[in-house]
Order: sequence, then C-alpha cells, then structure tokens
Amino acid sequence: MTKRIFLLLLVLFWGILLPLRSLAEGAIKCAVCGKVVRSGANYLKSDDGRFFCSKNCYEKSLPLCSVCGKRISGAYLKGKDGQLFCSEKCISTTWPECSLCRRKAKSGAVIFSEGGELFFCGHCASKPRCFSCSMPADCSTLDDGRMVCKTCLKDAVMSLKDALPLIEEIRRIMKEKLFFATEHDISYSLLDSKKLDELSPNEQRGLEMGLFQYIEEIEKTTLTKTNMFGKVQKTESEKVDKNYKIYLIYAMSRRKFIEVTAHELAHDWMQEYYPKINDLKIKEGWAEYVASKVNEEFGNKTMNLRMGKNPDPVYGEGYRMIKSVAEKSSNPMDSLHRFFRDNSK
Ligand SMILES: [Zn+2]
Ligand SMILES: [Zn+2]
Ligand SMILES: [Zn+2]
Ligand SMILES: [Zn+2]
Ligand SMILES: [Zn+2]
Repeated sequence: MTKRIFLLLLVLFWGILLPLRSLAEGAIKCAVCGKVVRSGANYLKSDDGRFFCSKNCYEKSLPLCSVCGKRISGAYLKGKDGQLFCSEKCISTTWPECSLCRRKAKSGAVIFSEGGELFFCGHCASKPRCFSCSMPADCSTLDDGRMVCKTCLKDAVMSLKDALPLIEEIRRIMKEKLFFATEHDISYSLLDSKKLDELSPNEQRGLEMGLFQYIEEIEKTTLTKTNMFGKVQKTESEKVDKNYKIYLIYAMSRRKFIEVTAHELAHDWMQEYYPKINDLKIKEGWAEYVASKVNEEFGNKTMNLRMGKNPDPVYGEGYRMIKSVAEKSSNPMDSLHRFFRDNSK
C-alpha cells in the first residue's frame, strides 16, 4: 500500500512594486496603514492594484517565510497547508525524512511497517523489499533468490539447531500463558522457498513462510492363527499412525520466526480439537490470532498491526473475524470454543 505525499509547489509573484510617483489629483487610501494620500503627495502602487503611502508600508504588506521569518518580495513557494516559503532551502525543511537514507524528500511513498507508517523517498521506495519484514532496503540475496535486509539478517534463524530451542519456548508460552497446546511429537524442517512452495497447497502458494502438515497412516495387519481344531483363523487389526510436521522457511528474523511458528502451531491445535473445520478463513484467522497473542507475549505487539490491516480476504479478514469473536466475552477461549463447535460440520 502506498500513498503519495504531495507538497504543492506554487511559484507566484507577489505584487511587483512600481516606482514612487506623486498623485495627480483626488485621494487614495494606503492599503496598510489606511492613511489618505491626497493630490501632490507621493505613493506607491503594486501591480496587483494596491496603493501604499510609503516604502515602509509596502514592505509591511509582504508575507513572511514560515521557516526563516524573512519578508518575501518576489517569487515564493507555497506548502500544502498554505504556508509560504522564501526558498527551496526553507521549504525543504518541512519535507518528511526518508526512513532509509534519512534525506528530506518532497515526494515518495508511505509504507506500512511493523512500527507504523514509514516514509520512503522515491529512490528508496523502489528498492527491493525484504521477504521477512517487507520493507524496502539494501537487501542481500539468499540462495533461493529471496531478498533479506540487514536488520532481519542480524538475528535470522538459519538452522534447525537455532530453531529448536526457540520453538520449545514458543510451545511453552502457548501452554503456560495462553492455555492452548498439544503434546504432539512434531517434526520440524527448515527449508528454502522452492521446497516450501512445492509442499504448499495451490491456494496458499507464495503466501506463507511456514506450513503445517498432518498425515495419517493407517497400517492394517492381518494375523493368521490355527486353532486347536486345526482351523485357520484370521484377525485384522488397524493401527493409526499420526504424523505432525511443521515446515519453516529459513532466514526469517527471530521475531518473524516466532510469529510464523506460532501460526503453524495453531493449525496443529485446531487439527487436534476441531479437525472438522474446513473453512480456510476460520483456520487461517485462528492461526493469525494465535500468532498475534504469541507476538504480545514476546513483546512484539507492533507486529500485529500488519494483521489488523491485512487486506487478504482469508488471512486478514479471518484474523479480524476471530479477534472479534474472542473479544465478545471476558473469557476469549470460551467464545472461541463455542464458535468452533458451531462451525464443526
Ligand atoms: Zn501607509
Ligand atoms: Zn525562508
Ligand atoms: Zn531515501
Ligand atoms: Zn527485513
Ligand atoms: Zn496457515
């Protein structure tokens, strides 16, 4: 989402002063002090038709630069709120500062970030976006072609060895602070965007940085026994093998990793307690809601601004729907359980 900032630049000419002359006959009034100039007296006239009794009065009629306070005679610049400036140097002090290169710029783009709206100058706004924080930046390219900014790379989760203790911490917080968790033995993998894309269902391709998979394997065994009368007896048994897997894209910043992992763990929870829910908006909305709660626990509440504003009809609208269900009662989980039960067909 970009919004252009316009600074209206108007170059106009303030009344050009014509030389002092003497009034031939009649009487005129000074536009500044109101003194009457009679026949034979000196006066000044500006080209916009106003009369002045003296140079001093004419100068008083000139506008002030709203930055340096100097009287402006001749060309001036007008800001978007109508303020006047004597020069480009003065008006440029009112321009917004680019949050990347720190230069003041007349125009550019406002981009929604974790910390709120940020202004970028035109040059910086056109730089590649970081896959993790989605801000334009001086990015490095990862092996799979994704672009990542220096800030995100600082604490990026690059290996499963880095990931596992953090995942444990997220699961502990979900259990002890948020009171929803499963005891599933989940296997985790860190992978690149190509592998994640191959594994993702069509409708979610390229959208997620993580993926939860539940695979049920039914193992049928037939036991053959010969009884005491010499007759062969067959007994069939079924063993259900439940496999839980979470795939996460590598090189996410620590905070993004926490958010995405919490999102996938929420899918695991829903698979256990409400496996019949098929509505993608409920599933993804719930996962985003859980991620938002975990973000809060980790002190990353500002990351939830993205969800609140996400225009996506599944993820964004789903999140806002689940959040409003949760906020209906003083016990959010009570209303959510009721809502999930009603939607389990
Ligand atoms: Zn006057
Ligand atoms: Zn000025
Ligand atoms: Zn810039
Ligand atoms: Zn980044
Ligand atoms: Zn999801």
